[in-house]
Amino acid sequence: MNYIIQTHQLTKHYAGKPVINQVSMNIKEGEIYGFLGPNGAGKTTLMKMLLNLVKPTSGDIFILNQPIMAHSYTYLKNIGSLIEYPIFYEELTAQENLKMHCAYMGYKDQTHIKKVLDIVGLQQIERKKVKEFSLGMRQRLAIGRAIVAKPKILILDEPINGLDPIGIKEVRELLVMLKQQYKMTILISSHIVSEIESIADTIGVLNDGELIEEIPMQSLRDKRQSMIAMVVSDTKKAKQIVEEKFHANVQIMNVRTLNIQQVNVKPSTITKHLIMHGVDVDKVETLHQSLEDYFVKKINWRNQNDSFN
Ligand code: ATP
Repeated sequence: MNYIIQTHQLTKHYAGKPVINQVSMNIKEGEIYGFLGPNGAGKTTLMKMLLNLVKPTSGDIFILNQPIMAHSYTYLKNIGSLIEYPIFYEELTAQENLKMHCAYMGYKDQTHIKKVLDIVGLQQIERKKVKEFSLGMRQRLAIGRAIVAKPKILILDEPINGLDPIGIKEVRELLVMLKQQYKMTILISSHIVSEIESIADTIGVLNDGELIEEIPMQSLRDKRQSMIAMVVSDTKKAKQIVEEKFHANVQIMNVRTLNIQQVNVKPSTITKHLIMHGVDVDKVETLHQSLEDYFVKKINWRNQNDSFN
């Protein structure tokens, strides 16, 4: 497997306490890695360590197969980033800000700037100074600045923060386009699962400084518990039959409805079995647990138990 970013037992202490605790994460080349965790979990600290803005207490970082040491800086040319609140030259326009950034990065191809402004939806504002920008415009410009030098890797700390629903959708589409057309690898953090679940290829969950899950999105979708809801003619009889035959957890919701949980049997098999035993089935629906519920459960469970798998 070709990993573009790897950490091994990465740890950061502040005032003697671990803020990042033995984190080993693996980001594949060309993927969107969704980095999730509640506020204060340590996401920003970890991203800052990848960018050499914060030095690890212990552990290793490998980026583009190179170990990152205290004095490693040239690798940063391959990374575009947006960390915390973006700072700009307020008296300059978007275009001028991007020009300054290209000069700073030693990136000579300035023809790209107009295209980048188009990509992030900041066209036709040639005269506007950044100090007049809305929060959404600033966020777009920050993403534009992160991609203007065509980096191999994008590290974005909560880039969706402060955007309206249309802006959120546009940023999501932009990231997918950057992955597909420019083959960028994207690490994006968020504390809101639904913001990134539709675009992430892999999800890493950080809680209290520990990486409690790193899983391909597809496996996560398959792993989520599903529930079958059924409208039947006799709920008591149906409950008894399903529990006995399929060892499932069945709840009677109302006089006509049952919820069947934790069962590895197709709804059609259950339906056939019920009909065979004289219970009419009027409606069947499979309900998936939302990812949000999955993570909230997992994080709560983790916080209540010492050993966690
Ligand atoms: P948020 O989503 O709220 O930004 P986060 O997951 O990015 O949270 P961090 O900002 O990395 O979390 O902070 C993790 C913990 O480390 C917090 O408890 C924070 O107070 C602490 N912390 C971060 N930077 C420092 C620092 N320079 N000195 C001391 N503590 C720090």
